[in-house]
Amino acid sequence: MRALGTQVAIVGAGPSGLLLAHLLALQGIESIVLERQSREHVEQRVRAGLLEQGTVDLLRAAGVAGRLDREGLVHEGFALRFDGAEHRVDFTELTGWTTTMYGQQEVVKDLIRAREAAGGHVHFGVDDAVPGSVDTDAPRVRCTLGGERVEIACDFVAGCDGFHGVCRQVVPAGALTTYEHTYPFAWLGILTSLPPASEELIYAVHERGFALHSMRTPAISRLYLQVGPDEPLARWPDERIWTELRTRFALDGGAALKDGPILSRGVTAMRSFVVEPMQYGRLFLAGDAAHIVPPSAAKGLNLAVADIRVLAAALSAWYADGTRELLDGYSRACLASVWQGQEFSAWMTSLLHPFPGEDRYAANLRRARLRDLVTSRAAATAFAESYVGLARPRLG
Ligand SMILES: Cc1cc2nc3c(=O)[nH]c(=O)nc-3n(C[C@H](O)[C@H](O)[C@H](O)COP(=O)(O)OP(=O)(O)OC[C@H]3O[C@@H](n4cnc5c(N)ncnc54)[C@H](O)[C@@H]3O)c2cc1C
Repeated sequence: MRALGTQVAIVGAGPSGLLLAHLLALQGIESIVLERQSREHVEQRVRAGLLEQGTVDLLRAAGVAGRLDREGLVHEGFALRFDGAEHRVDFTELTGWTTTMYGQQEVVKDLIRAREAAGGHVHFGVDDAVPGSVDTDAPRVRCTLGGERVEIACDFVAGCDGFHGVCRQVVPAGALTTYEHTYPFAWLGILTSLPPASEELIYAVHERGFALHSMRTPAISRLYLQVGPDEPLARWPDERIWTELRTRFALDGGAALKDGPILSRGVTAMRSFVVEPMQYGRLFLAGDAAHIVPPSAAKGLNLAVADIRVLAAALSAWYADGTRELLDGYSRACLASVWQGQEFSAWMTSLLHPFPGEDRYAANLRRARLRDLVTSRAAATAFAESYVGLARPRLG
């Protein structure tokens, strides 16, 4: 087995792992990133698309927002449709903050290019990485690189390997507490080569289920439908998807949604998950490896970036002067923000989705909450502060 060494071994080249590698490199800290999938796979993987202003600001400060600034679509509000009428929520007027639509896969591409330009080490197609000795001062990661078995000695391991990753699994049973909730529905998401029907997002609450109209570029729209959990895609031919979207977005006297070619489709489970603490010895979990939210409030990627901001600052402090304080407090610092994101995501999920089998009483409570949001400035402001990420504790 060949011996390699680095300062921080990072498992996973999603937004968390790549951003951490980039921020560490800016501080002169070396890392090796190990990714299970191919580069092509991670660059094409369509997932989140709404970046909070804090996320954009961080990417800008890190020098990786050139394309984001040119191509990202800055939003100041969204439309909320229910009972056949549309209402606009102007979150920028309420909070002063904007959001930016820019696909997660584009963030990933930008970060990979930045690592490449800096001569960083990102290895794709590494499907057997296993961290070890993370409870000692000499952790390591074993894997196969280019057909050869290697052992990477490092100071720290960053578990940025998503919900199904390996890092959380190496922590002994009992050292972590998990909190989970699964929703009785899922989202069917499509990408279509159709210019967005609106410049802003449209959240539609309908008795047949929730629908979201979103976009990735001026030529590509992303639409979602609430469907049953584990819904087989085979049951959703194009015509059924468009008919259902038209029904849920219908406005009294309004034009019907146009349909177009579907470029890709997938079903996303609606799940909440948190692990506490987010660290064990010299292993630090970040992003989806430590917490998952249902996509209703678009917090997953933004919470992942918030973790990385804290972890990068903590590692930088350790390398600068040996201070352990920030590293020791990593989990505590992140979890305040994580639980705020959990609460808002759960709240928004229950606001937008009819639950299977719910009675008319529950449906009317939801309608009252929706009306509150579009008639009370105080309710809209509280909502908007969470929506844009302003309500989350500022970290790092
Ligand atoms: C299917 C899906 C759809 C989503 N859709 C939306 C959405 O529409 N809107 C929204 O706001 N959010 C969405 N999210 C949430 C958002 O995309 C995540 O919060 C975000 O990707 C978190 O980034 P991350 O880097 O922490 O994790 P990930 O992006 O999951 O990255 C983890 C990386 O680790 C790699 N990996 C896993 N195991 C290993 C291993 N053993 N060894 C090496 N590498 C490994 C993975 O291949 C992956 O590249 C979605 C998430 C998923 C899973």
